[in-house]
Amino acid sequence: MPNFPSIHRFRMPRRAAIAVMALLVAASLAVAACAGPAKVEVPPAADIAVGLDVAKSGAAARLGAAVRFKTVSRGPDVAVAGEAFLGLHDFLRQSYPKTHAALKVESVGDYSLLYTWQGRDAARQPILLLAHMDVVPIEPESLGAWRHPPFSGAIADGFVWGRGTLDDKVSVLATLEAIELLLADGFAPERTVYLAFGHDEEIDGRMGAARIAALLAERGVRLGFTLDEGGIIGHDLVPGVEPPVALIGVAEKGYLSLKLSVEAEDCGHSSMPPRTTAIGRLAGAIHRLESNPMAADLAPPVTDMFDQLVGEMPFMLGLAVSNRWLFAPLVESRLSESPASDAAIRTTTAVTMFNAGVKANVLPCAAEAVVNFRILPSDSIAAVTEHVRAVIDDPVIEISRHGAADEPSPVSDIASPGFAALQQTVRQIFPEALPAPHLVIAATDSKHFTAIADNSYRFLPIRLGPDDTPRIHGINERISLQNYSEVIRFYIQLLLNAAL
Ligand SMILES: [Zn+2]
Repeated sequence: MPNFPSIHRFRMPRRAAIAVMALLVAASLAVAACAGPAKVEVPPAADIAVGLDVAKSGAAARLGAAVRFKTVSRGPDVAVAGEAFLGLHDFLRQSYPKTHAALKVESVGDYSLLYTWQGRDAARQPILLLAHMDVVPIEPESLGAWRHPPFSGAIADGFVWGRGTLDDKVSVLATLEAIELLLADGFAPERTVYLAFGHDEEIDGRMGAARIAALLAERGVRLGFTLDEGGIIGHDLVPGVEPPVALIGVAEKGYLSLKLSVEAEDCGHSSMPPRTTAIGRLAGAIHRLESNPMAADLAPPVTDMFDQLVGEMPFMLGLAVSNRWLFAPLVESRLSESPASDAAIRTTTAVTMFNAGVKANVLPCAAEAVVNFRILPSDSIAAVTEHVRAVIDDPVIEISRHGAADEPSPVSDIASPGFAALQQTVRQIFPEALPAPHLVIAATDSKHFTAIADNSYRFLPIRLGPDDTPRIHGINERISLQNYSEVIRFYIQLLLNAAL
């Protein structure tokens, strides 16, 4: 899972606030009160796991044990940690015997797992829960900063510690804990439930999740919805909103890297240089790109999130976001000020590599740079490439694709039964949290299922505050025992709500 995007606190500067008030008075606007959606009554959560104690039930120890398998994805050109994955598979088989007896389990792409929990009603559309078993490596120089070694799976101070406790072994294990408890309770789903546990999500999922999706497509499976990581329960992450927000991802940004290259005509001795070298030419192009970012677009799902949360926002902020016909430019300009919130409203441009020159007294024969774009759902790979070409406006600079690219995902429906089931589950298990649609800034394995799923949602109810988001892919990754029991209860309730 990606760094989690937060939208920093929104403070309207005094001058802008005065301008806003003046505008309002001058136009004699009758501004509607900033009311959010009405409070919804929900049935109580099922009592099957009320009071679940993950320390006593052994669930915390099982998560810790799963952390100890070093299922690290290091890169597409590095050998898969095959032994570790097979060890983890064995461990899962032994730890969840009812699940492994009742569900069909298949290995796909050698190390990914596809579980099929056959439903009683073949006419109902199946659903699919996604998670991934691989984790990102540990930077050797960060090792000393871990309070407990990253592959210890230690249980201490009320937390399970280690790589994968937030991203994403927690989701693999919690799903299986939930199903084991449901089976013990005699539950049998109406609709078929698939579980897809990939082994290479951190390096794009093309050997794992993509192959599972291809296999299901081959079998003619059409999914009602998929659920994957992506959104979380954010504490103090949404501007001006005090209660925790359950950010349910309904779309994810696309991914593209472009290589810019220039070859010089003169590349001899530097004593008689031309006015511009290859480096200068390319630097000029990059400067133009950074000065002309892609346009901001205040659109769903970000605007849908605002509409859900507006009732909780401070008056001025609520006023601005609920009157976007008037204040869109102001809202956009404020959101653009922080990289985290800018990424939610714009296709971002990041110059990430630059190579040129070999010696101080030699003119470079060539220069090369790589620019990485994260593409908004309303943009596309073609639109970004065209923008780059137009802004650079230099025929000498060659523009080509660098590495894999993905179009942005479609935006999933927030009026679907699947979204309603997710919202209801959040309200039952996290009654203090506000569910809201959300744009996931980075990629997940769900992108591989777009072609066979009506909707794709991205939400794992780990609680994160501003201090916790750096733990994902960072140091001291951990989950509290309390939160882990909530995650398990969330999957139980979701299956009761969506699969019965
Ligand atoms: Zn992940």
